[in-house]
Amino acid sequence: MTNAFDMPGKSDCRASGMFLAIARLNHSCVPNAQQTYVLHRVDDNTEHGALGYEVLYATRDIAEGEELFDCYIELRQPTADRRKDLMEHYRFLCTCPACGPAEDTAMSVEALRVRKEDDSRRKRALKLEEDILQYVEMGEIEAAVDLGDELIKLLEHERSRGWGERYIASACVTNSTLLSEQGKWRRALEYVRKAHRWNVRLQGENSPDSWDTLDKMQQIEKMLR
Ligand SMILES: [Zn+2]
Repeated sequence: MTNAFDMPGKSDCRASGMFLAIARLNHSCVPNAQQTYVLHRVDDNTEHGALGYEVLYATRDIAEGEELFDCYIELRQPTADRRKDLMEHYRFLCTCPACGPAEDTAMSVEALRVRKEDDSRRKRALKLEEDILQYVEMGEIEAAVDLGDELIKLLEHERSRGWGERYIASACVTNSTLLSEQGKWRRALEYVRKAHRWNVRLQGENSPDSWDTLDKMQQIEKMLR
């Protein structure tokens, strides 16, 4: 339950797998790496072809000897909620650089202020995503796209580094899809290109997400021809 990984992408089953090296990664709410389960294209005849494999990409520069961290939970939630989530599902109290020490009394006023600001950025990111969905339901597509822009800026901001980048591609895909539906192909293409760059950077060229954004890019480019 705590060491297995989802192996998504197979349509006929929902599977989990144990990967002995990657299973040893610890959690951080500002991780420096991201794991992805990579399926092969159907024409892949290598020995791994049938099963796919688990890969790990650095999400930022990592110094020699520095520990690698992945994340186990939704990062767009404030410290108290992340800690609750981790305690319930993984039975530990997170004391990563974002969460700070176990006791708030051990934190300086400045550290508490920084954490409070980080908490509100994370909450804001999730709230924006909910608001976007609401605008879409109301048919207010331009407003939804504007909020999407705000969300992408927030995620790309230096102060969101360590967690924001994980969510940029999906925010860009949402904007691209909304603009495509309106026939605004040029703008749609810009967003999906950006999404693809992030997917490749964080998950490599062979991840399901990267294939998805590549397909979307090619479809829009065809429309523009
Ligand atoms: Zn943490």
